[in-house]
Amino acid sequence: MQVKIPDSLLLSVQKPARYIGGEVNTIQKNLSEIDTHFCFCFPDVYDVGMCHMGLQILYHTINQYDRVYCERCFAPWTDMEEALRRHNLPLYSLETFTPLKEFDFVGFTLQYEMSYTNILNMLDLGGIPLMSKDRTDEDPLVIAGGPNAYNPEPLADFIDLYYMGEGEVEYETLFKAYAEHKKQGGSRREFLKLAAQIPGMYVPAFYDVIYEDVPAAGCQYMPRIAAIRPNRPDVPEKVTKVLVEDMDAMSYPTKPIIPYLQIVHDRAVMEIFRGCIRGCRFCQAGMIYRPVRMRSKEKVLQWADETLKATGYDEISLTSLSSNDYPDLFDLLREIHAKYPHVNVSLPSLRVDAFSLQLMEELAQGRKSGLTFAPEAGTQRLRDVINKGITEEEVLNGVQLAFAGKWDRVKLYFMLGLPTETEEDILGIAELAGKIVSHWHNIPKEERSKDLKVTVSTSFFIPKPFTPFQWCAQTNYEDYMAKQKFLNSKIYNKKIQYNCHDAFLSTLEGLLARGDRRTGKLLYEAWKNGCKFDSWSDLFDEDAWRRAIESSGVEMNYYCYREREEDEVFPWDHINVGVSKKFLYREYEKGLQGIVTPNCREKCAGCGIRQISKTGVCYEENCK
Ligand code: SF4
Repeated sequence: MQVKIPDSLLLSVQKPARYIGGEVNTIQKNLSEIDTHFCFCFPDVYDVGMCHMGLQILYHTINQYDRVYCERCFAPWTDMEEALRRHNLPLYSLETFTPLKEFDFVGFTLQYEMSYTNILNMLDLGGIPLMSKDRTDEDPLVIAGGPNAYNPEPLADFIDLYYMGEGEVEYETLFKAYAEHKKQGGSRREFLKLAAQIPGMYVPAFYDVIYEDVPAAGCQYMPRIAAIRPNRPDVPEKVTKVLVEDMDAMSYPTKPIIPYLQIVHDRAVMEIFRGCIRGCRFCQAGMIYRPVRMRSKEKVLQWADETLKATGYDEISLTSLSSNDYPDLFDLLREIHAKYPHVNVSLPSLRVDAFSLQLMEELAQGRKSGLTFAPEAGTQRLRDVINKGITEEEVLNGVQLAFAGKWDRVKLYFMLGLPTETEEDILGIAELAGKIVSHWHNIPKEERSKDLKVTVSTSFFIPKPFTPFQWCAQTNYEDYMAKQKFLNSKIYNKKIQYNCHDAFLSTLEGLLARGDRRTGKLLYEAWKNGCKFDSWSDLFDEDAWRRAIESSGVEMNYYCYREREEDEVFPWDHINVGVSKKFLYREYEKGLQGIVTPNCREKCAGCGIRQISKTGVCYEENCK
């Protein structure tokens, strides 16, 4: 069935182009010539989802498979949801206007915790039973992947199947198995048994969670997890992530879909490498994407060339976790610039030094968009705790050079509530911002910009799975607020603007990040209370979430404010991302003592990734 959306309905909502598909570079296939129909669902609005590189990569990769068709669907904005419900129309895909419930697979990408209620809402709007246990052979298989899937448990009730790892690797095997199974008329459950044998696939229904007999220390009624065990003999004890070994061998979406409307980041995107050598102790991406795998400069150039030709974009973003660690970075930039002098090249994660500043100036063609530094903590002591390899001297040298080049905007990112944080560390944030302003004042008037704007942004530290700080207690709401207030009171300079995150939202994010199967009830209650688009401050409904916490019986102390013992069984312990729990604990202890771990290039810290991957840039021979 094809969903017909009346023009009058489209004209009654904001940005109708979000809902009509047909953009340049979309792929059309004949539905009678496919075996497997997959819908890639992004649980946020179109304008956000279309910036997501993973969407473009998977769309392109899956559509290369024989007899498989990948379409797209995004969370409808509230006005469109209301219109769909009023007209009794289901949520549909953008390529063929097929209702979600008619697909073979509906696949969600889990990028951030506060999008989880949108998943429930999209399932509901798509006519798919919310709970995995309520779905029949007539319903699609609901699959999820992405970074947050590494803790699959909070959504375990709603997802049939998880894909652990990088999407380019095993989808083809999964779809071949599905097509064969479908031909033979096999049941849904039989297929899930087959799927669970494929590397990287996790079927929550085949694993039982066993709890301890007594509540956890400091908690009233919630016991810790004693074990997570397979309930079938033919599924692995631990599900190991799958990863791309050779970045040049995989294909890349050099003909990305170009939206009709302005999206959040409207530009070409080129991934230059995956993984990170740095080892910041709070950073989940730095751990779960190990090891570092580079794309060759030649490939990047070839694909950048093809992408720019196919899109007409005048900006290309070279993405990675820490661009300075790409060995051919400056040659690459120069070659792109030589070939496309009018294309602006952006590097979202560039460390600022003399050379990079000169390049940034050259590449931005006079458009000085502002410098960004992420010291994360206000003092060197705390930066050592979190293993953030950036010193005050580096920041001040960077701004000194930038001010001499007449840059006039500096953004600084910090976290509040980091482990071992004291008042002195918070004060250090205000002091560092103050020193930056003094540096600007010290430059003679005629040699600096007319004015200066320093923006200090603080988010709250949230302990994440698969990081050394996964054992830490999260700061409670009242303390978050007090820290924020304290910092605000120490920032007096008019040239410094202070922005901060919502404290309750951060608490919830932490709860869901380290949640378990019992957290599913909270999500369900929150969704029933009308929660959706929770990462949008104007739509976030604190009261509805507080009521959901109350009615679901979730104990905040259990999930958020409790420091974990070394032997704690985490809800994600049956997932193997390569980095070992032993290594993470070692890093946690070193962190508390303020001992720095050198980056991988200086000395291997023996993180354990070599147990699952022999390729990538590793320096394990230095591991002593
Ligand atoms: S094995 Fe060593 S060099 Fe490789 S990612 Fe782990 S710590 Fe870094």
